[in-house]
Amino acid sequence: MKYVSTRGQAPSLDFQGVTLAGLASDGGLYVPESWPQFSHDEIAAMAGLPYARLAQKIMQPYVGDCLTPERLLELCEQAYGRFAHAAVTPLKQLDETQWVLELFHGPTLAFKDVALQLLGLLFEEFLARPREDGGDEHITIVGATSGDTGSAAIDAVAGRAKVDIFMLHPHGRVSDVQRRQMTTVIAPNVHNIAIDGSFDDAQAMVKRMFNDSAMTGRFGIAAVNSINWARLMAQVVYYFYAALQLGAPHRKVAFSVPTGNFGDVFAGYVAAKMGLPIERLIVATNVNDILHRALSAGDYSASTVTPTAAPSMDIQVSSNFERLLFDGCGRDASALAAQMKHFEVTKAMQLTNAQRESAAALFSSARADAGDMANAMRWAFEATGEVLDPHTAIGLHAARAAEGIPAGVPIVTLATAHPAKFVDAVERATGVRPGLPARVGDLFEREERCDRLPGNYEAVAAYVAERATPKHG
Ligand SMILES: *Cc1c(COP(=O)(O)O)cnc(C)c1O
Repeated sequence: MKYVSTRGQAPSLDFQGVTLAGLASDGGLYVPESWPQFSHDEIAAMAGLPYARLAQKIMQPYVGDCLTPERLLELCEQAYGRFAHAAVTPLKQLDETQWVLELFHGPTLAFKDVALQLLGLLFEEFLARPREDGGDEHITIVGATSGDTGSAAIDAVAGRAKVDIFMLHPHGRVSDVQRRQMTTVIAPNVHNIAIDGSFDDAQAMVKRMFNDSAMTGRFGIAAVNSINWARLMAQVVYYFYAALQLGAPHRKVAFSVPTGNFGDVFAGYVAAKMGLPIERLIVATNVNDILHRALSAGDYSASTVTPTAAPSMDIQVSSNFERLLFDGCGRDASALAAQMKHFEVTKAMQLTNAQRESAAALFSSARADAGDMANAMRWAFEATGEVLDPHTAIGLHAARAAEGIPAGVPIVTLATAHPAKFVDAVERATGVRPGLPARVGDLFEREERCDRLPGNYEAVAAYVAERATPKHG
């Protein structure tokens, strides 16, 4: 499988290449050259497969000959063997129509573990291979986090040879649990940086580093956020896993997805492209509703971020939306590059009719404010005893408000975080204070390690350059 950039000006890469890359050199995102497809019968034959086996089958066409089927299966078994639930991502029923798919049984209690546990192993696998020039390859992961990505990425790569990780978070703006999940990992290759500024400031510094040739010339700067294709690929699997349990491919299923950077729900789009019969993908947003405005009215224009109780969705610019727009304009990379350049300058753009129509065929959207979120949390608790986190509650609100889904089609809300990560919001809505699972129980006793830096690119770049290992070390 070859991967091409959405903006058409970067070299195409194989799976190993896209896994170790960040942004494409033309500022675009890598996508597979074409969507592999499974027939109805092939999908029917996947029913009942264990998670790791299903994961290998779904991902093999994307991996191509970069990994043998046997090796890919081993890596999947290793990654998903670390999950605290024997079903990896168990599906729970709420009522006749509504279901939740629990994606938070990984080591850091957020759905990001599903992809990042595998990505950590892929990094190690590919970096261990000899380079053609006989040298040693090393990567430097630089990321910004509003909470969940940072801890999941750090857990996935802590202590691994040939990888350094520098994770920026906005000082004072992540929850205590989220901060401690990052700063208590004491490994020589883990560097936590608290930035004086917002998440957007941190994110802007990371983007600048990807385009800073003084840094990329010396260091193999790699990405762990969902611009990395391997992450999205790993997330396609659980759409198949849930739908197969609910009767696919003989029956259609709808999904409601708490959305920020459009990575998780884009994986649902990929599942549909591969042949999974998905009735609808519901994009659930909080009051930071750029995606809801884009999908309902074609208006993709960023305003300032409003902090909410669902911080992983407090995003105005959703990187992965570019991947959908690419397909929506018939993969016309030069038209898309012009559209995205315009957006980067003006922070606003209109979707074309073709982009709107192709999105409307599969996606709908809904926006939840703080009251909608709390009501959904209360309903789930009172009607079923399930305690949901704020992100999942926004998804459930959108699922219950969805119109036009035929009777008999189940709606699966993706449960993206464990409620104990957001105890205060959960307690306010339900009166219940969920405890941290035993596997992270002593978080508040552990030593923390973190450096605080001013919100200034030069300071961050100098910090990284002093500590990172050059790419051909
Ligand atoms: C990252 C995250 C999201 C948003 O996922 P995207 O792929 O960015 O759309 C939603 N909920 C939680 C808990 C998250 O950590």
